[in-house]
Amino acid sequence: MRTVLIHPATYENIFPAIRRAFDIFPLNMKNKKVLIKPNVLRKSEAKEAIVTHPAVLAAVVKEVESRGPASIIVGDNPGVFSYGANEDSFIATGLMEAASGYYRNIGTDAQPIDFNPEYLPVVSVSRAVLDADIVISLPKFKTHGLTVITGAIKNSYGILPGAQKARLHKAAGTPARFHDMVVDVFRIRIPDLFIVDAVVGMEGNGPASPEIRDIGIILASDNAVATDAVIATMMGCDPAKLGFLQKARAMGLGDFDLKTIEILGELKRIPDFKLPPLGGEANINNPAIQSVLSKPTMLRPQANRDICTGCGACIAQCPVSALSLSEQFPVVDPEICIRCFCCQEICPEKAMSLV
Ligand code: SF4
Ligand code: SF4
Repeated sequence: MRTVLIHPATYENIFPAIRRAFDIFPLNMKNKKVLIKPNVLRKSEAKEAIVTHPAVLAAVVKEVESRGPASIIVGDNPGVFSYGANEDSFIATGLMEAASGYYRNIGTDAQPIDFNPEYLPVVSVSRAVLDADIVISLPKFKTHGLTVITGAIKNSYGILPGAQKARLHKAAGTPARFHDMVVDVFRIRIPDLFIVDAVVGMEGNGPASPEIRDIGIILASDNAVATDAVIATMMGCDPAKLGFLQKARAMGLGDFDLKTIEILGELKRIPDFKLPPLGGEANINNPAIQSVLSKPTMLRPQANRDICTGCGACIAQCPVSALSLSEQFPVVDPEICIRCFCCQEICPEKAMSLV
């Protein structure tokens, strides 16, 4: 049986929850290389809830320091092509300061490894991830247009530097295949501990939605499938319907059945929690909906012209060049778009929505 801790917390009073996580899921970190990986989707302010909050990272760093000595690295790979935006993203979010001098741009040194020949035979992974004795993953409690939730398993997508993410999005080609591939990336280096920032989460059109939600908890577990099952349940989404959880269970990585998960704390569904458009999880599993979605007219990103500044960041991020500028606004070519929603993730104005 797997265990998931649900502990009340605020950003001002975060230490009891973090300490309890390390007490329940102890790690021997003495003289080990420890990589702490927050979710740093992109340059944003901490209050936007797009990234793991700096208070969570700071508390985790302090806890690891106190249980060391350890060789600590704090790192992530923001964005899809963003090799150069790594420092900027950490500074803007406050995560650089929270990293207490342990920050490293893990996107500058990568190692090619064998991957899934069905998608890409070889993929490059940040060497700091492969070298670490212990990986601590700090996901953010958020929705995601493509995978419905972005939690413990999806946070590992950030072990891929910059353009590797875009290559895999392109190689996957469809949302269903992307669900499978996310698990293949996760399996490259399964983290040893997951501490989820659900103090303030995100609902609606995530992972960069303007709709944030006070939740007031920290989740922790040493198993990603159990963690994501709890996140999905809190969001009002049946974990059994999520393609990436089905794949992870089939591969023996854990179980999403709540009967197999010991909950330390109170598991409650968040009232009226907004899932991504089109009912979220139903998109992934329902063959009829999938067949409709595979047609080029369904569920595409569209820029809100009242908000869009025409900065072109979305065009630069698109892995298949499906976006172009027309009358100063990005327009999508539905024949080319693979519905990866990277353009939505990266838009600094939150002008891209799925329609
Ligand atoms: S990134 Fe956002 S603001 Fe910039 S062009 Fe695209 S939709 Fe407009
Ligand atoms: S237009 Fe947006 S959703 Fe479509 S392929 Fe490009 S980045 Fe992905």
